[in-house]
Amino acid sequence: MSISTLYENDPVYQQAVQQLKQSASILGLPDDIVEVLRHPEKLVQVKIVVKRDNGRIETYIGWRSQHNSALGPYKGGIRYSENATAGETVALSMWMTWKNALAGIPYGGGKGAVRVNPKNLSQRELEELSRKYFAAISKEVGPDVDIPAPDVYTNPQTMAWYFDEYSRIVGYNAWGVVTAKPPELGGLTARTVSTGYGVALGVREAAKKWLGGLQGKTVAVHGFGNVGSYAAKYLYEWGATVVAVSDTSGVIYDPKGLDINEVLKVKEATGKVVNYKKGDVKVYTNDRALFELPVDIIVPAAVENVITRENANSIKAKLIVEGANGPTTPEAEEILHKKDVIIVPDILANAGGVVMSWIEWSHNRMGCWLTDEEALARLDKIMSSNFNKVFDEWEKKYRNYPMRIAAYAIAVDRVVKAMKLRGWI
Ligand code: GLU
Repeated sequence: MSISTLYENDPVYQQAVQQLKQSASILGLPDDIVEVLRHPEKLVQVKIVVKRDNGRIETYIGWRSQHNSALGPYKGGIRYSENATAGETVALSMWMTWKNALAGIPYGGGKGAVRVNPKNLSQRELEELSRKYFAAISKEVGPDVDIPAPDVYTNPQTMAWYFDEYSRIVGYNAWGVVTAKPPELGGLTARTVSTGYGVALGVREAAKKWLGGLQGKTVAVHGFGNVGSYAAKYLYEWGATVVAVSDTSGVIYDPKGLDINEVLKVKEATGKVVNYKKGDVKVYTNDRALFELPVDIIVPAAVENVITRENANSIKAKLIVEGANGPTTPEAEEILHKKDVIIVPDILANAGGVVMSWIEWSHNRMGCWLTDEEALARLDKIMSSNFNKVFDEWEKKYRNYPMRIAAYAIAVDRVVKAMKLRGWI
């Protein structure tokens, strides 16, 4: 019997379930276990009422999905997006379960979202929204229960508001309730760069293994937010030729390579990469044009569902490293796998953020603070060893399938083993 739920028909949720089912059938995981794993342990929906600056009362909806806690407290970000849905939140929380298990950190998977376009809110309105959302989910979170962090359109300032709101409710400084806090509140400056840094490490390791190295390889980065901008910066510094980047304003492309430091300045000053004017830059107003460019490597680092059945055949890159969560649909992955395009999956490639979150959280709880250098060196070690573990597993056992299967094999196995040991299944 299949349970009918409010997230069932969501396309992003269906993508996450399809990936789970595909891996389960290759790994020989029975249907009843898949049925357990495809539902979150808990999904809460909250109402957030904000008094706008113009006096209007606005109602928003938010969720927190707690997918699995067999390996530890739930962990995962909170996003602000006008496209957020319950189904997308559940899917993202499921991906966090696999990501955290694969990274070997002591967490389960969770994710939160508020359905809002944050660009339409003033700083004061954003603070009210953030505090009220966190107060509404305050009974569900906690340093040993569920530890949120940033995701799309949330940042260290948002975490400072969450931390303060929660600490006010419980009556003490609960450092460990959120991660990616500002350094003044127990965060690590290195957390800001860590997801992009980890993605760049993944590109470097994969390029070393399958493209003969990173030097001079052409790269296109989709999305120039927290993940894409730092991934582009490190790849540029490490000798790759970053020829294209994009944001919602469009794509900038220069076959001779972009000056990423200049792009960062332009983005910071004007909010749009298309205002970059150096060299022979070409501008495309549709950000999806990036996927068809003649490059060696593509890093999708924005949102889910951008590499699809429609554009997979036009992709010329030989390597895709997923900075975003869920950027490639299963149909697109099948097409690309047949064309011998290697996809380093999101749950491996973009784990740098949550690994750094774990470093921050464990130090918060010990009451001691690491330096940035120590934290980045640790991240480097953990990520490189995880990449090699998955690359080896893939080459040894699953080379006829996309690399994602090898990553799922390790992650799902760890979660299922923990559930069995605990007597849950
Ligand atoms: N939102 C990030 C992710 O998708 C980070 C989560 C965390 O640090 O808890 O991995």
